[in-house]
Amino acid sequence: MTPFRPALRPALRPLATAVLSLTLAASAWALDDDFDSDNPPAAAAAGGATAARSDPRYVWDLSTLFKDDAAWEAERVALLAEAPQLAALREGFGRDAASLRAALDRLSAVNQRLRRLWTYASAQASTDNRNPRNQERSGQARALGGQLSSATAWVDGAIRALGGERIEAFLRAEPGLARHRVRLQEAQRLARHQLTPEAETALAALAPTMGATTQIRTLLVTTDIDWPTITVDGQPVRVDDIGYQRLRTHPDRTVRQQAFDAFFKTYARFQGSLGAALAQRVELGVANARLRQHASAVAASLAADAIPESVYRTLVTETNKALPTLHRYLKLRQRLLKLPDLAYHDIYPDIVKPPRRYTPEDAAELTLASVAPLGAAYQKQLREALGARTMHVYPAPGKSSGAYQSGIYGQVPLIFLNHQETFASVSTYTHEWGHGMHTLLANGAQPFETAGYPLFLAEIAAFTHELLLADHMQKTAKTREERIFYLGEAIERIRGAFFRQAMFAEFELATHDAVQRGEALSGTRMTRQFCELLRKYHGADAGVTHIDPVVCTEWAFIPHFHRPFYVYQYATSMAAATHFSQQLLTGSDAARNTYLGILRSGGSRHPVPLLKDAGLDMDSPRPYQALVRHMERLMDELEALLQANPA
Ligand SMILES: [Zn+2]
Repeated sequence: MTPFRPALRPALRPLATAVLSLTLAASAWALDDDFDSDNPPAAAAAGGATAARSDPRYVWDLSTLFKDDAAWEAERVALLAEAPQLAALREGFGRDAASLRAALDRLSAVNQRLRRLWTYASAQASTDNRNPRNQERSGQARALGGQLSSATAWVDGAIRALGGERIEAFLRAEPGLARHRVRLQEAQRLARHQLTPEAETALAALAPTMGATTQIRTLLVTTDIDWPTITVDGQPVRVDDIGYQRLRTHPDRTVRQQAFDAFFKTYARFQGSLGAALAQRVELGVANARLRQHASAVAASLAADAIPESVYRTLVTETNKALPTLHRYLKLRQRLLKLPDLAYHDIYPDIVKPPRRYTPEDAAELTLASVAPLGAAYQKQLREALGARTMHVYPAPGKSSGAYQSGIYGQVPLIFLNHQETFASVSTYTHEWGHGMHTLLANGAQPFETAGYPLFLAEIAAFTHELLLADHMQKTAKTREERIFYLGEAIERIRGAFFRQAMFAEFELATHDAVQRGEALSGTRMTRQFCELLRKYHGADAGVTHIDPVVCTEWAFIPHFHRPFYVYQYATSMAAATHFSQQLLTGSDAARNTYLGILRSGGSRHPVPLLKDAGLDMDSPRPYQALVRHMERLMDELEALLQANPA
């Protein structure tokens, strides 16, 4: 089965890894969307509606998962008792088609129950991290996942040992095996990258030490570094990751500049240790690729979803060709902000004042209206899901930041938000419900074993929702100012989700390629490499954006670099979503059926050929060229509005 590698907040990731190493079919998992750390932190919630926040409409009801904590605990104990029995399945595994089916069915059933158990525990933990019982329950779920993983670590090897011919014969003889076909074939496909059982056991034993680089970075950044404080509007503000993200949108340029200066100078002081930690992560990727006979670290990472390395490299090449479009936007931003020049700290503030505030009810209404191109049945299913009380809407003390969707096979997914009544919150709302509808459609069309979709597809559904919302807002805007606002938001979203993520992707490629050539990495070198990319992407040589060398330690701020070759999927998905949303907006039934077919396919096919059959070749320049044309059109419209009545 294609392992589903979700974007989880670091705190959740170790468990997910443990659960997923069970390697049974993945049901849609929690997706976290603070991918660029660009979601504003939750603490500074918008005013108003405070009394309504404990309203049951805004707090999810987890009793559909487990009646109460006691029921959860009973299930945990029952699942724990399964471990020795799962280990015992090894005896006689695949003796004949019927016994193979029985064993795989059993493993699937346990996996499904484990996911349910973990979903409940993680949902509770993310809404109140301060509650020790929540922490304990997460820990117990994590430990259980580890035990069940250990008990079933033999399964892939046993499948490979059966051999392709025998497996095909079994599939013919036993129709009930069909739901496990993908899992059986994937184990075969990845067989040549497996080491001997002894080597795999040794690596598995070392695995806990291999994740240490993320932990080192997290501890440094959240605990050890003494972040500076600056005075803003008469108040002291600590410029740590959260303070920086808040201040970078500040309307006063001097404040932004001070914040950038204080923040990145602090990272510069720690670039030696942060660089060593990241270099180790890169070296690990290169070593792993060599051991497992992959052409490169990027190829090894992409192999899990059978994505050709050329897809990644095409994205980088095409983004480089598209940089004049980004530079056009940056100049437009300078003009709208009425600045004499543009610096890196001018990229985040709003270009015009937001027209209004948006309640969760507004977000629901706008989302429902904007998905009209997906058809009446889709709208109806979404409307019903929105009424199912599976959302946790407002920020709260102890609640995690960001947003995610957590799929549960057979019921409406959980949607975790930190709604702040901004337009960005509406975008996040529709984004998460894009994931939610993907989960519902895949669950409706696939058995549990192939319902979980790969990340390469996941963000397409979410961004398609966002792009349909952007189109709806532009079309229904009542005033010139509103139109300028929504056009600006749409263009800025493409910068953040496409260009910025592609720049990160290029940085990851550069660091890994350097190690592959036998060169040494260090924090200083990474800062130099990042500087070159920042200058290139933002047109520093052509005078588009001034890049103060102090901001070149930004790489140290991006936690996702410790999860190599992951963020590129935001860029590829934004390109693919641009294609599909434009097709959908033509109103063609064929386009709608093609798109919904992708969502319904879940994880039953590899994503690149699936998209190719749907008319989108991610290995060609076309999706990226289409995105660039779309962004140019939005800028044409924006400029025409400014021309008609100069701002
Ligand atoms: Zn997402």
